[in-house]
Formats: sequence, structure tokens, C-alpha cells
Amino acid sequence: MSVKNNLINGQWTAGASTIPNINPSNTNDIIGEFAQASSDQVEFAVASAKAAQPAWARTPLEAKQAALMKIGNALMERCDELGRLLAREEGKPFAEGRGEVYRAGQFFTYYAAEVLRQGGENFDSVREGVDIDIRREPMGVIAVISPWNFPTATASWKIAPALAYGNSVIWKPANLTPASAVALAEIIHDSGIPAGVFNLVMGGGGSVGQRLIEHKDIGAVTFTGSYETGIKVAQAAASNLTKFQLELGSKNALLVMDDCDLDLAVATALGGAYFSTGQKCTASSRLIVHANLHDAFVEKLSAQVAALKVGDALTEGTQIGPAASDDQLQSNLRYMALAKEEGCELVTGGDALTLENPGFYMQPALFINTRNDMRVNREEMFAPIACVQKVEDYEQGLAIVNDTDYGLTAGIMTNSLSHANHFRRNAETGCVMVNLPTAGTDYHVPFGGRKNSSFGSREQGKSAAEFYTQVKTCYIKA
Ligand code: NAD
Repeated sequence: MSVKNNLINGQWTAGASTIPNINPSNTNDIIGEFAQASSDQVEFAVASAKAAQPAWARTPLEAKQAALMKIGNALMERCDELGRLLAREEGKPFAEGRGEVYRAGQFFTYYAAEVLRQGGENFDSVREGVDIDIRREPMGVIAVISPWNFPTATASWKIAPALAYGNSVIWKPANLTPASAVALAEIIHDSGIPAGVFNLVMGGGGSVGQRLIEHKDIGAVTFTGSYETGIKVAQAAASNLTKFQLELGSKNALLVMDDCDLDLAVATALGGAYFSTGQKCTASSRLIVHANLHDAFVEKLSAQVAALKVGDALTEGTQIGPAASDDQLQSNLRYMALAKEEGCELVTGGDALTLENPGFYMQPALFINTRNDMRVNREEMFAPIACVQKVEDYEQGLAIVNDTDYGLTAGIMTNSLSHANHFRRNAETGCVMVNLPTAGTDYHVPFGGRKNSSFGSREQGKSAAEFYTQVKTCYIKA
């Protein structure tokens, strides 16, 4: 069995212990053993990153740009191979894994270009003969903590800007997806960036993750994961006055109006709610449907949900892979039971599936006659389960869309310009989609949510500079 190690100060370093990485599509398939960093190794990674960062910040722009470009190109060139690995360890179908790795490459090539986009501002002082120069400087050592559901993309949209703006990085990936993490770390290492500028420390959240975010030499913590963990990250970072940014869970809604294209609405709901086994922070698990269209929408959607091909992530034709872990599958099945207890009416699906390979499979499920105060419409399930709520008009629909503790994305299906425009302005979310799935965003524009879905400045696009840099105001008298 191969053992994959951590990358600390440019060296592949064995950990204090290892964990197995199990394929959720076939639990007989052990992908490998992965190192778990000790607390001394976390300490050494922080010291190495701190020592390496100033020289990296001073590295000429074109050298930094070239390193990021090399990483991005390697990811795009190897997206078949790495997409297969991602699908094997996380359970998303190969096409989605491949797309994720390609997108990760685009984050690096985008931020390679951002290296050269130097900004700043100049002012005349109120004092005669004094100039003011305002520029951005790196934060220092960035701790990157990432989840398992988009293991390569999420990490890349953090690591790429962190490096581009002159910081060093310590990355702690999720323990469910270490193979994708090691593959990305190998590509970053092979780009030739100096030892210590990028470090990978694998391990548990409560041990390695917590140790990192509590460390006083961390300049900023960027975290994507669940709301519950996000609160712990916020408390630990705040106790050191360390800058932090959180991208958390959500409970996204798709509002389907009676003036929409029905087939497009069904296809949009299907993709948004079920693809990636519902394990997306942007998944539309709440489907809010106008009464005039409700029955036709439910009839078409339920037929398509029932026809979804559930199977091994690496089998051609699979549309829905397994849950990523047994814990996730058990949680999904508990939500199925809860929905029934709460009085939701099951239209299709919801049973655990036994397929040829032992894995964490279930049939995608659709419920109707649900209310927004039910727990299944308030808690992030992260499951291939969607709940329909019937509404009488647009105003009631919008009110339900906004009646949630979360606020990452919201979508509307409509051919009415006035509804689309009103929704765009009044949905209380960080991202709004008109005639598009709630999931699926670009890499060159801001991404993030409101309410309990996010904290701190936006990720991606030029907005990332806000988090990965700090402003210096310099007064100059000639
Ligand atoms: P999680 O919160 O369980 O874990 C996320 C990461 O935090 C992992 O690396 C984990 O090891 C680490 N961690 C756990 N406890 C920690 C602690 N005490 N200190 C430091 N680190 C700790 O989340 P998950 O199950 O891996 O991912 C699913 C969640 O991520 C969902 O809620 C999903 O909505 C969210 N997510 C959000 C976005 C977004 O951009 N908003 C994107 C993807 C996923």
C-alpha cells in the first residue's frame, strides 16, 4: 500500500501516523495511506512558511507569474488523470471531477495574470510638499483549511491568490480527500517555488486544523466548510486577532414561476439539486414552485429524478455517485426519516441502494407538500434530496426564498423581466441566478454569501486581494 506524505519546507515528510483513503463507490478499493502531521510538524511548517515568505514576496513578478502559470497549465493538462483520482476518492462522477480539476487550473492561470496587475493609489497630502502612496502588501503566512466536496477547486481558489499576492501557504485539506491534495501539492512543488512557500499538512480538523488556526504566526486564515466548524475557526482566529474569512454552508432556493420555460426549469432544478449527490454548498434543496405550474413541474421532475443513473463514479453513464462517506450517507437517511416524520410527502426515491460494488449509494429523493418551517427546509442536508414548496404568487415565493439563516445563492426561473429584475435586487444572497442553476459560478468574479453562509471579504476574482493583502499608507516628503 502506497503511503503519501506531507510537504513541509520543500521535503516530503512522513507523519506521526497514517489513515486509509477509501473509495466511496467501492469500499474494497483502498486508494492509499496518507500521513497525519504531528503537532511538531505543524510547528515546523509554520516556521518554514514564515521564514520563506519575505523572499517570495520580493521574487520578481514574472517569476511568480511563471510559477502560477506552470501550476495552472499542469492541472489543465492532467485533468483526465486527476479528475479520475478525485472521482475515485470523493465519489463525484468522472466528468464532474475532470471539470473541477480543469477549473482549478483556471484559478492558477487567472491569478498568474493578477500578479502583474499592480494597483495602488496616489494622493497629495493636505500638507504642502508631501505625497501619499497607498499600496497593498502580503498578509504573511496563510492557513488554508478546505472541505472534501470540492477538494481541488476550493483549495485552488485560495492557494492561487495567496501565492500571487506574495504570501506563503500552509494547506490543511479534508481527511476524506487526501489523494487530490497530494496530487495538487506535487504539482505546486514541481513548479519550482522555493521550499517553505507552500506546505501541505494533512490531519484531523480538531488536531492539525485547530493547531494551525490558533498559531500566533499565522497572518490570515481562509476557511471553507460547515457553519459549525466555521464558528470554531472564528473563535480561535479572533482570540489572536488573526484575520479570517469563512465560506460556509447554505440552504439555497430555486423559485419556479408560472411564466418560465417548464422544461428548462425542470432541467435546472435537476442539476442544481441532485448533481454531485447534492453535496454542494450551492445546491438548491428548496424548490419553490408557483401553484399554476406545480403539478406539471413535479410530474416532470419526479420522472427525471427517478431516471437518474446512480452508480460508481468511474463508470461511464453514472449521473449520481455515492455519498462521500458512510457518515454522510447515514446523515442523508436520517433526513429522509425526518422529512417523513415532519409530514412531507415522498414522490420518489430515498432508499439506500445496494449495487454490485459495496458503496454509499442512495436513490435521489423528491418531497412535496413541505413547509419552510420544517427542519428539512432549514438545515443544510448536503444530500440528493429536494423539497418542493407550493406558492400562490411571486411575493410569497420571494419571502420564502429569503426566510432562511443562510444566504449563498438563490435562483429564479421566469420569462418576466420585471420578476427577474426584482428578484436580482431583493434576493438576500451573495449570488443570484436568473434562469440558471443555483450551482455553478465563474472564477474571475466575486464568490460568497450573506448571513450564516459567509464571513469576511469575498473570494475569487479581484476581490481576493482584499483578504490576501493589507493596505499600507506611506507619506513622502521630498
Ligand atoms: P467541515 O467543516 O467538517 O470541515 C472543513 C475543514 O475544516 C476540513 O478540512 C476539516 O478537517 C477542518 N476542520 C474541522 N474541524 C476543525 C477545527 N476545529 N479547526 C480547524 N479546522 C477544522 O466541512 P466538510 O464536511 O469538509 O465540507 C462540507 C461543508 O462545506 C458544507 O457545509 C458545505 O456547504 C461547505 N462548503 C462551502 C462552500 C462555500 O464556498 N460556501 C464550498 C464548499 C463547501
